[in-house]
Amino acid sequence: MKEKRDCKIVQDLLPNYIENLTNEKTNQYIEEHFKECEDCKQILENMKKDIPVNKADRDNREVKYIKKFRKKMTVLKLIILIIVIIFIALTLRKAFIISDLSNKAENIKNSKNWRSTTYSYDIGEYTTIELSQLDDQYKVKTTKITEEGKETTMMFAKKSEDENSERYRVNTYTETEEEKTARLNMDMGVYLSLQNWLYTDNWLQLVIHSIFATVKNAAYNGEECYYITNFETVYSSSFVRGMYVDKETGLPISTIAYEYQDSEGRKGRYPAAEYVYEFDCVTEEDFIEPDQNEYTILKE
Ligand SMILES: [Zn+2]
Repeated sequence: MKEKRDCKIVQDLLPNYIENLTNEKTNQYIEEHFKECEDCKQILENMKKDIPVNKADRDNREVKYIKKFRKKMTVLKLIILIIVIIFIALTLRKAFIISDLSNKAENIKNSKNWRSTTYSYDIGEYTTIELSQLDDQYKVKTTKITEEGKETTMMFAKKSEDENSERYRVNTYTETEEEKTARLNMDMGVYLSLQNWLYTDNWLQLVIHSIFATVKNAAYNGEECYYITNFETVYSSSFVRGMYVDKETGLPISTIAYEYQDSEGRKGRYPAAEYVYEFDCVTEEDFIEPDQNEYTILKE
């Protein structure tokens, strides 16, 4: 009878005994009991057999959970990867379009016979700038119309006689409502060319600037073009917010300028401009200078 009561106690203690949760004294007591009781010993053996199964089952559940977690992570990684790929693809697409337009513009810049006319509008001011090149001759005609009237300036630049010189002999003629003045035979450097605002120094710069740029298909005055914004390099004009670039030539045909607020809170806008290009249309006649006798000659 005593043995039976001990058995009950021992069997109650067995789960803890197996997990090594029982103290030294209890262990001695249990082990003493085993010497006398085959039944309890047998129960212990059975329990031990069961445990690896339970443990394996528990491990299995853990493995399943980890697998599930890993699967979730894999899906997340895949989504991130897809987003990164799309981002890279979109950036490269922009870079390719911009680089293509820039190359076209660079080719056109080699032209030695061209005229570009810029029309720009600002508050109370309308300006037309006509740039012409015929080989080594340049002409710049600026017409400004303001409330005060119209002012026209013509600049003629001819390459210096000296073959090795990069200098030009420059005459300017200015005509306002009141007077006609001229400055003659100035010696200066002249740096005029078609604008390639999409030019970058290298492909890395191109890609980096393409990240922030937007490139959209658009039409401007019936011309197929791209509307490009936020493509800012040292060559682009900082007051230009966006520009319409001709798909065929890579040259800007219109620019949209930033709006600003001056210190007194008045809103304004840098001039928005339109550009017209003509090629192989400039002739020697365009370089016939006005009659100098009509002008007051200004000395430096
Ligand atoms: Zn027993």
